[in-house]
Amino acid sequence: MGGCPVNVWIPEFIKLVAAGDFAGAYDQIKATNNLPAVCGRVCPQEIQCEKFCARARRGEPVAIGRLERFVADWNLTNRPLKAEAIPSNGKKVAVIGSGPAGLSCAADLAKAGYQVTIFEAFHVPGGVLMYGIPEFRLPKALVQKEIDALKQLGVTIETNMVIGKVLSLADLTEAGYDGVFIGSGAGLPSFMNIPGENLNGVYSANEFLTRINLMKAYQFPETDTPVKVGKRVAVIGGGNVAMDAARCAKRLGAEEVYIVYRRSEEEMPARLEEVHHAEEEGIIFKMLTNPTQIIGTEDGWIKALACVKMTLTEPDESGRRRPVEKPGSEHQFEVETVVVAIGQSPNPLIKATTTGLDTHAWGGIIVEEETGASSLAGVYAGGDAVTGAATVILAMGAGKKSAQ
Ligand code: FAD
Ligand code: SF4
Repeated sequence: MGGCPVNVWIPEFIKLVAAGDFAGAYDQIKATNNLPAVCGRVCPQEIQCEKFCARARRGEPVAIGRLERFVADWNLTNRPLKAEAIPSNGKKVAVIGSGPAGLSCAADLAKAGYQVTIFEAFHVPGGVLMYGIPEFRLPKALVQKEIDALKQLGVTIETNMVIGKVLSLADLTEAGYDGVFIGSGAGLPSFMNIPGENLNGVYSANEFLTRINLMKAYQFPETDTPVKVGKRVAVIGGGNVAMDAARCAKRLGAEEVYIVYRRSEEEMPARLEEVHHAEEEGIIFKMLTNPTQIIGTEDGWIKALACVKMTLTEPDESGRRRPVEKPGSEHQFEVETVVVAIGQSPNPLIKATTTGLDTHAWGGIIVEEETGASSLAGVYAGGDAVTGAATVILAMGAGKKSAQ
């Protein structure tokens, strides 16, 4: 339990699974985790709950995540949603963003009798669960069921509402909301700032995955949004986002898909399982390789990626090994598409349109650790908007904390 950011009662729920009481097991998990079907699939269990499992010391840990996933899926199939009549406490709260932070905050507030309205910029709620993580890892119908469950609790979701454009945060306070939670995530992609990054065929991972997952570009022209995937695709980065982009490119017909990462496999931040699946699907890993230029054709399309090889220094005081360039290792290989997946930071829109909201220089909203309270009275924040790109379960934990 100590390894789970929302303290799921792991021994209790597993005992109930063993006894065949799946409904009881579900209720046990749900007491602290609002999105078990999601967490069972995407939590990095190997560094969280399963890392601390006593059995892990002598082999493989108990598959806590898989059990959680099973129980949640069983519940979705066998126990139909029922609208819950919760007595109102007469207070209303606005939640900005409908990713795991916003959804989890809204659920806890609704259960406590608050009238909650979620304002979501996109036309579909769910945040990264809908627009980022691909269908083959997290079925969208399942996320939709979780959102439907939230609506059954009486939460209203207003889509196409970009706070900072359509309404400002001050407008929400003026509209009589007693509190505001900002869960606007980290949707601003970072780029490498190398020559050729503005060529046709270069995508940020965010744009690439949004076109595919949210706008269903794989069904184009039946859908409105296309995505152009060449025969050879290079995905830059070594996290979950890079693995998702690479595996999507493969599914869209690319013959060769490269992961280009400047450190070694050991330092890759992606979940082990994701790296393993990418390898199984034939993704080619170019480790200790750093792009220096994207080379274009005369008419502005990508032709090749120029890179250098890297070596790692001895660990510094923080234990981290720094990548340094290997002299004379310049080389290039042909690609038609480049997807940049080297990180995201919070979008500056809300900060830019809200007086008195303190943020770090890199964009993260500054909050009190214990409560999620921001520098503005009655305004709380959590998830990637506060921490920068992190995990689903940490975002959910932050949403719960602020609701409290
Ligand atoms: P988000 O999920 O980003 O949601 C924020 C929401 O706010 C979005 O819907 C956005 O449209 C909306 N919004 C933004 N600005 C405004 C505005 N001004 N007004 C109104 N709405 C706004 N984590 C894991 O634990 N496991 C994984 O396997 C994993 N894989 C990932 C794969 C990808 C491709 C990506 C991108 C991330 C992945 N993550 C994973 C990270 C995880 O998804 C995020 O940490 C998590 O979604 C953060 O939740 P959030 O609610 O803070 O923000
Ligand atoms: Fe493990 Fe995530 Fe479930 Fe917690 S929520 S028990 S970390 S799978």
